[in-house]
Amino acid sequence: MLGGPGTGKTTLLADAAAERVLHGAEPDSLLVLTASRRSANAMRAEITRRLTASGEHEGRTVREPMVRTVHSYAFAVLRLQAGLNELPAPRLLSGPEQDVVVRDLLAGDLERGAPDWPRELRPALSVPGFAEELRDLLLRAAERGLGPEDLGKLGRQQQREEWVAAGKFWRQYEEVNLLLGTGGNALGIPGSPALDAAELVASALVELEGDPELLAREQGRVRHLFVDDAQHLDPLQFRLLRLLGGGADDFVLAGDPDQAVFSFRGADPSLLTGADRDGDRTITLARGHRLGRAVHEAVATVAAHLPGGKGHRGPIPLASEDGVVRTKLLPTPASEASWIADQLRRAHLIDDIPWSEMAVLVRSPGRSFPVLQRALGAAGVPIASATEELPLAKQPGVRPFLALLRLASDPESLEADLAEMLLASPLGGTDPLALRRLRRGLRRLELAGGGNRSSDELLVEALRDNDILAGLADAEARGVRRVGELLSIARRAVTRGDSVEDVLWQVWQASKLERRLLKQVTRGGSLGAQADRDLDAIVALFDAAARYVDRLPKASVAGFTEYLGSQHIAGDSLAPVAMRGTGVSLLTAHGATGREWTVVAVAGAQEGAWPDLRLRGTVLGVERLVDLLSGVDSEKVSAVAPLLAEERRLFYVAASRARRVLLISAVQGEDEQPSRFVDEIVNAAGDEPAEVIRGYTKERALVLSELVGELRSVVCDGEQEPERRRLAARQLARLARAGVPGTHPDQWYGLGPATTEEPLRSTEDVIRVSPSTVDILAKCPLRWLLERHGGSDPAQLAAVTGTLVHALAEAAASGADGERLKAELDEAWARVDAGAPWFSRRERRRVEKMVENFMAWLRGSRAELTQLAIEQDMEVELPAAAGELRVKLGGRVDRLELDQQGRPVIVDVKTSKTPISSADAEQHPQLAAYQLALLLGAFAEHGGKPGGARLVYVAKSNNKSGAAQREQPALDEETGPQWLELVRKAAAATAGPEYAAQENADCDRCPGKASCPVRPEGRQVTGP
Ligand code: SF4
Repeated sequence: MLGGPGTGKTTLLADAAAERVLHGAEPDSLLVLTASRRSANAMRAEITRRLTASGEHEGRTVREPMVRTVHSYAFAVLRLQAGLNELPAPRLLSGPEQDVVVRDLLAGDLERGAPDWPRELRPALSVPGFAEELRDLLLRAAERGLGPEDLGKLGRQQQREEWVAAGKFWRQYEEVNLLLGTGGNALGIPGSPALDAAELVASALVELEGDPELLAREQGRVRHLFVDDAQHLDPLQFRLLRLLGGGADDFVLAGDPDQAVFSFRGADPSLLTGADRDGDRTITLARGHRLGRAVHEAVATVAAHLPGGKGHRGPIPLASEDGVVRTKLLPTPASEASWIADQLRRAHLIDDIPWSEMAVLVRSPGRSFPVLQRALGAAGVPIASATEELPLAKQPGVRPFLALLRLASDPESLEADLAEMLLASPLGGTDPLALRRLRRGLRRLELAGGGNRSSDELLVEALRDNDILAGLADAEARGVRRVGELLSIARRAVTRGDSVEDVLWQVWQASKLERRLLKQVTRGGSLGAQADRDLDAIVALFDAAARYVDRLPKASVAGFTEYLGSQHIAGDSLAPVAMRGTGVSLLTAHGATGREWTVVAVAGAQEGAWPDLRLRGTVLGVERLVDLLSGVDSEKVSAVAPLLAEERRLFYVAASRARRVLLISAVQGEDEQPSRFVDEIVNAAGDEPAEVIRGYTKERALVLSELVGELRSVVCDGEQEPERRRLAARQLARLARAGVPGTHPDQWYGLGPATTEEPLRSTEDVIRVSPSTVDILAKCPLRWLLERHGGSDPAQLAAVTGTLVHALAEAAASGADGERLKAELDEAWARVDAGAPWFSRRERRRVEKMVENFMAWLRGSRAELTQLAIEQDMEVELPAAAGELRVKLGGRVDRLELDQQGRPVIVDVKTSKTPISSADAEQHPQLAAYQLALLLGAFAEHGGKPGGARLVYVAKSNNKSGAAQREQPALDEETGPQWLELVRKAAAATAGPEYAAQENADCDRCPGKASCPVRPEGRQVTGP
């Protein structure tokens, strides 16, 4: 039975199956096979509905499920056979497990020097992609009925050494799986034969072909065999079905060769089209029941260019609705995603279409899902499912639990990174600021105790032994205590010998995460969605633990964490678990096969991405093997044509999932062009009914937050018409009464009254300022306030390299030679997190260069300067009359030198890349503050009259002086009092309660600009 999308193939099969039962056939004599578990569930529900609707079937029970997938049927045959022979039932080797076995074996091969593999392939053996490709090759070969020896033979015939090697590898792989199954596992526990998907079907086929009794029994039982979506069958499955259905009363294969999109998994649609060569037993369904007229026409346009017979194409649309096709080209992926979000919201709010009746389909999830998830989330469109692409051990919700289990069984493996991950995870609940506070607190205690361990070491120590926390404030130590407690619970359970499942359960209960996550889920939004995913992942973790314990009851916790940690690919059990009913489905086009929705958005239809015509050349030649076994000489035919056809079929499948509204969107920019499929639809449709909007005019999306934003901006914009502003205010007031967040001015940032008018400091306090704070205060008091109270990041790379260069310069000036400097830099750099390796190398070279420049400057300046001290602390109190503020000026001078006239000279080493101008240097507050301190007697032992000050820019080489220099003349009787006044004013400015924002040349580099009223980016905090 052939038929295009929506022609009723599945419905007809369900009808036929129900009819058979209603007319007296034993339910057990029926077998309906579908392509996936989801379709099997849907089909089962359909048949049951028909049976119960008739009322005749009530009360009857069915021994075997009538609807299954081919794999599930093969599994049932094997289990039955194993039961009869009193052998353990087989079990399905999941994708991730299979991957682990393949990689283990490859690692073993490599240790032996991989003599069987061609020399040029040996370096690839340890790459995860190679293992995946090898699995693929073996699966494809198995599906086409080959065994290890056949693959080797074919390799010799075709002179493909890699196939010969793969054949040998396959033999090993089978032996290992057999070993796993017959009790040869490390713990000596009898297991069941472990079979992968292809082996499952192959083994069932072998059983049926080799055991006439079994075959006769199965053929006798299954009298009506219906197969839906038969275009997805691979050769082995097809053989199995033909064997089973050969003698049945009904054997129906239903499908649409144009919807065959799984050739990469081994499917071969020619099996369906070739099943009835004469065509006299083929029915073609010619009437479309699903697609609206416009959708139907768009889909037919795409299908018209497909190769192959056209007999089953072009059904006459019978659906009562006209349908809508909207095609839109937008300038960026983000605007495309917001357009889709807006369209879906309109469909939901205006046309009353439930979220579950909508889907967004894409070609490549890695590229499109994050943007779409963000846009849909921001617009308040709930997402029903996001395909998890990560292996279980890498899922954010699972990682901390696995780390905790690993630590519980191997406490020595605790390192700083792991400690930090656990503390920052939901188990520790420590945010980055609190983490920094904790590190600082631990260091403080360490220094006070006379030790000098790094904060990394102290973090590890704190998790191992809570005693060290005694000197910390409760808030600082909370996260460590929490994780430490969970760790000891897990450790106690592991020592008692509890099973993996039990240990996990105890940790989970003690973590009290369930309540927190559930609360987040009910609050919704992006945090809610993440909490949802975390919960799913944790359920999957328990599931994996249960399966592991079932299989290996005596296995250790360490074994489990290692087993999960070694999985590099995602298992197939996750995606269905992640499905939730009430949202829009976000899926790949492949994942949408066999399903349908009222509204479907096909997103990211870009030329180059869909169709993706990159040749899928593989090092092991999987595609060549498949062609060869299908009788195609791929060396002679075009490799692109079949790729294009498959991509077109995929687009056809995606577009034909829509019943009423089809949205097609793409990005059109300098580098991106819409797909040829989009052009075909647009050209074929003319103006109507496809609506093509080129370019992008920003309209307000149908999202409450956008409306509130627009109303607020109108109300606050003095240039708007008064009437418009009044109306906007009225609408805001209405929304505020309805409790919409962000509408009432009380909730607007920047409009609330100040929470306190108290000054930061009392006038009795002695105010301490350093020359560098004087510099900042002189330029902008607000910047000082913001930086001083959390607005700057001392962990930033520039700050870290600055400190490092100062330390190295100090060591160099104290006589360290090049060798020692390099060793110190090596040691320090190993602890610096400088990001990507290339960037880290570049930064390191920059640091080395700065030290070289400094050395050159040092050598060159000795003729006029003599070193007096390095990194010298100083503090002086400014003279103050009664009632005036008491101010202490203190800090550390990088270098104190003596000039030729015997006067002390201040030298400040700068690591910034651009030196200031000479004129600015003369007015440099930091240098002047140092000189002032000198004048006031800070270094009285070296004389009271300063000889000026210098800035040395070590990041900028200079042929004459080694590094660029800027000088400030010596302070004298005239300039000294002026600077004294400036420092006094700067100190007074720290008291508050008001801090002026003074725009200056450094504003662009100011870390507080996002909170500053004079900057446009700060308006979000300070303006209405
Ligand atoms: S951006 Fe400029 S004005 Fe604003 S706080 Fe920073 S330095 Fe001051």
